[in-house]
Amino acid sequence: MDNLEQIDRDYIFNTYARDYTHFSYGIGAKLYTSDGREFIDFTSGIGVNSLGHNNKKLVETISHQASKMLHISNLFLIESQAKLAKRLVLLSGYDMKVFFSNSGLEANECAIKIARLYGEKTKRYKIITLQNSFHGRSIATLAASAQDKLHKHFAPFPSGFLYASDISNAIEIAKQDKEVVGIMLELIQGEGGIYAMPKDSIKSLERFCKENDVLLMIDEIQSGIYRSGELLASQVYDIKPDIISLAKGLAGGVPVGATMSSKKNIFEAGDHGSTFGGNPLSTSAALCVLDVLEKYKNSGRLDKMIAVFDNHLKSISKEFNGIIKDISGIGFMRGLKIRDDETLGNIVKKAREHNLLVLKSGNSTLRLLPPILINNDEINDGFKRLKSALESI
Ligand code: PLP
Repeated sequence: MDNLEQIDRDYIFNTYARDYTHFSYGIGAKLYTSDGREFIDFTSGIGVNSLGHNNKKLVETISHQASKMLHISNLFLIESQAKLAKRLVLLSGYDMKVFFSNSGLEANECAIKIARLYGEKTKRYKIITLQNSFHGRSIATLAASAQDKLHKHFAPFPSGFLYASDISNAIEIAKQDKEVVGIMLELIQGEGGIYAMPKDSIKSLERFCKENDVLLMIDEIQSGIYRSGELLASQVYDIKPDIISLAKGLAGGVPVGATMSSKKNIFEAGDHGSTFGGNPLSTSAALCVLDVLEKYKNSGRLDKMIAVFDNHLKSISKEFNGIIKDISGIGFMRGLKIRDDETLGNIVKKAREHNLLVLKSGNSTLRLLPPILINNDEINDGFKRLKSALESI
């Protein structure tokens, strides 16, 4: 048999600290390895598999669409793309239009382009981002991500990004610098330690932005698509952003990115584009995801499962208070702040030995991003395994 690990090491660029556990299929929040081990998945492929693995409706939708037409190009009308845009706008309640791309960084790239176009007339182009933010790995979105470790290589970066230590500092910078056109942030920082921004400062930021014609640009790539318990974390925070970026969970595993904006007439034909963006495959998958999750939310099940998850987080933090310092995040985007990085690394390793997948985040945080459709048994089973992992530390 081929030695897949060796082939991977020989032929794939070394950009990931890859674990060579070989998963071959999944069902719901469970993943199975080629040698028959069953894992509970508290990662959903870093927030992507919103319906879990092998969801029947999503599989049927994708198969059906594949049998009709995978792709046609944005030169033509794409039924599922138009319907998805309408669906996102109606579900969000925001009066916006949508541009579709293929990934999170592309959604943010489009957000940055909208801001720069918007600022052109008033000669404003600068965008403020927040310390510990993560907005992607293209040259522009790396520049937007306010973390020194992301700027070690690849210079020169495009100018026009200013970094703020927190929201009040962002407001201060914007007051002084008349070239600022937007403030871009994650309401719940994903890579930066699952840090949920304080609600009152977000409301005052919104007020400042509206009063000063500064664009409020919300990166919901990780927090969006019901991960916060609502379609968007922006709804949890009760704000009206000018620009919203989405990706990850939107099509449940099919690559898609979306940028929504209230600046509905900002683009003219030729200003922006994407070959694959919003093609029939990804947008029909996304329509299915929204269908399933909207019903799930309206049935009350999502809130119930989040409450179950929450109770487990509270009791495990209490039981292991020498290791776990705090609980963070909202809904199904949660963090456990661990006493130090070394212990965090050990927990992730031990969890894998106990057949549980969890993630690391910044600030010594254990990150939990289960599938949105995770059920009671899977949650209980996952926390049992997490408890065993913690006992073995
Ligand atoms: N923005 C946020 C908040 C993210 O969490 C990520 C990915 O982790 C990105 C942007 C970049 O998304 P992608 O990896 O799809 O380009």
